[in-house]
Amino acid sequence: GTEQRALFIIFGGTGDLAKRKLYPSLFNLYRKGFLNENFAVIGTARRPWTDEYFQKVVTDAINSEDALAEDATQFASHFYYQSHNVNDTEHYITLRNLADKLDRKYEIGGNRMFYLAMSPRFFGTIAEHLKSQKIVTTEGYNRVIVEKPFGRDFASATELNDAIGRYFPEKDVFRIDHYLGKEMVQNILAVRFGNNLFRALWNNRYIDNIQITLSEALGVEERAGYYETAGALRDMVQNHILQIVALLTMNMPASYSEEDIRREKIYALKSLKKYTPAQVQANFIRAQYTAANGQRGYREEEKIASDSATETFVAGKLFVDNENFSGVPIYVRTGKRLSQKRSRIDIAFKTMPTNIFAPQPLGQNVLTINIEPEGKIFLQINVKQVGQGFTLKKSHLDFFPTSNGKQVFPEAYEKLFADALAGDATNFTHWEEVAYSWKFVDAIRTAWDQHDYALEEYPCGSMGPVAADKLLARDGHKWFYTG
Ligand code: NAD
Repeated sequence: GTEQRALFIIFGGTGDLAKRKLYPSLFNLYRKGFLNENFAVIGTARRPWTDEYFQKVVTDAINSEDALAEDATQFASHFYYQSHNVNDTEHYITLRNLADKLDRKYEIGGNRMFYLAMSPRFFGTIAEHLKSQKIVTTEGYNRVIVEKPFGRDFASATELNDAIGRYFPEKDVFRIDHYLGKEMVQNILAVRFGNNLFRALWNNRYIDNIQITLSEALGVEERAGYYETAGALRDMVQNHILQIVALLTMNMPASYSEEDIRREKIYALKSLKKYTPAQVQANFIRAQYTAANGQRGYREEEKIASDSATETFVAGKLFVDNENFSGVPIYVRTGKRLSQKRSRIDIAFKTMPTNIFAPQPLGQNVLTINIEPEGKIFLQINVKQVGQGFTLKKSHLDFFPTSNGKQVFPEAYEKLFADALAGDATNFTHWEEVAYSWKFVDAIRTAWDQHDYALEEYPCGSMGPVAADKLLARDGHKWFYTG
């Protein structure tokens, strides 16, 4: 890649996300030449670490093999640590001095990337101090990358957005949805707008229904404190699932550009059909995992209330009421402690209007985009069985983006970092996307909070409650992915 000059300031530099995702991704960009001599990283958090200790944490985090040890040491030598309490103005002055010094030392030219990898309640105060203490430069760019969750409803997201927006214009705010950095999610636009075959069929005349499953095998793990206040609807549907819905249902953008793509995604999310409470009850199911297969139930987990009403599973039917998709049911589901970790999209096409082979049945054409664990695109078709007579059978056309279908994709964060360095926000969520997503989700959340709608149960290791199957059965459909 082309070398980029940038000073990264990572707030929450000692945190889990920084160690697991950010440092390894930056290292990969270094090895690929996107970062070389003219960059530096300041990690800041409350703990009093030295630069040496921080550099050791970074090399441990990237877990380099011996062959790379020299690379890793070189890379880590660009890392500096500044102990910092985000509420303390004095600390920002120290931070500015260090930033300016490193900018000169590495000839960075004033380009700054502020990565907010800590609790969103600090974003406002950080943004304010970056401006007032002149840590934002007058030469070069100043971009702020923010992590999820972006609010917990429309009102709090607006507040958060205003707090950042007072100091950083929309074009410099890069809101992370790491699903947008995944190869197979990015492949949705390639499939849709690169193939006339699919373009022609991608509408309510030919598509019968769409199914999106983001299933996790893990339980709440260390994030229990946060999860208990969020739940699956906020944690997965508002962002990842609705982003996938937008990519699947948006109209064709005028060009493959940030501006045109985000505009069409905004329209798609604006077109989500808002539900009344009674419609929420009919179309959305929430559930909690219960003990099974040697695993604890949600209410038995540490830091979780024994009478918790937080949902660990959501299934729903939604509609995008635009020209091409009104009337197409989009079934979505996500949950923890399901039978497998998998992210998958199934697009079911309508069957032939007449079947000349009757009484032999015709299978439905289904396009499956498997996002993870393996990347795969799979198109189910009907063909003739080899031999005498004429018997139909189901077969499929496969596409594996890598030779063996195994995960050799770049880490999502690596792709997103490279985009942010290039100033390309295509794969980051625009504020209006966030806003429309929250409005849709708020209607569901409010209905759940104000009414006594059922909280279903499902055993650990299953694919969710029976109610989630009934949701489709009612329409004569079934989940293609059964776990
Ligand atoms: P963490 O608790 O591991 O780290 C938080 C960091 O913030 C630490 O470095 C801590 O020292 C620092 N910090 C806290 N209070 C501070 C203060 N007053 N002044 C200065 N520093 C302070 O959290 P994490 O898991 O790394 O997550 C960070 C953010 O990223 C959160 O908003 C989280 O929701 C989001 N996120 C995390 C993950 C993940 O996989 N860990 C995934 C998606 C989003």
